[in-house]
Amino acid sequence: MDPVPDCLFCRIVTREIPADLVLEWEDVLAFRDVNPQAAVHVLVIPKEHIPSLAALEQRHDRLLATLVGAVNEVARQDAVDGGFRVVTNIGPDAGQSVDHLHLHVLGGRSFGWPPG
Ligand code: 5GP
Ligand code: ZN
Repeated sequence: MDPVPDCLFCRIVTREIPADLVLEWEDVLAFRDVNPQAAVHVLVIPKEHIPSLAALEQRHDRLLATLVGAVNEVARQDAVDGGFRVVTNIGPDAGQSVDHLHLHVLGGRSFGWPPG
């Protein structure tokens, strides 16, 4: 799918908006969250505009595996040895604010459970 002009993360993919990149693969980009909620807070996104995890289709199976691989690579690079959390918000009740699939990788502190 082509970049969506008014999508913030598509505009990061096309470099219209700068971001602190930590990883770039053919289909995937990872960059630091502008408003970090932990010492490590990286967003892992597909370059393709997919609105959320709930919009994934079977044709995305390989992309999904690549996204998980990128999450693990980000965690390895940032050495979150004590553990880390992976979060993706889907829809308004979960607080999704950018409608382009992104996996939050959070680490460098301990996290409560259940989440808020
Ligand atoms: P959501 O609320 O959709 O799960 O997560 C969106 C995330 O994008 C938030 O954590 C927010 O801080 C981050 N964010 C919003 N705008 C920007 C931006 O322009 N650059 C970066 N790097 N992160 C952003
Ligand atoms: Zn997008």
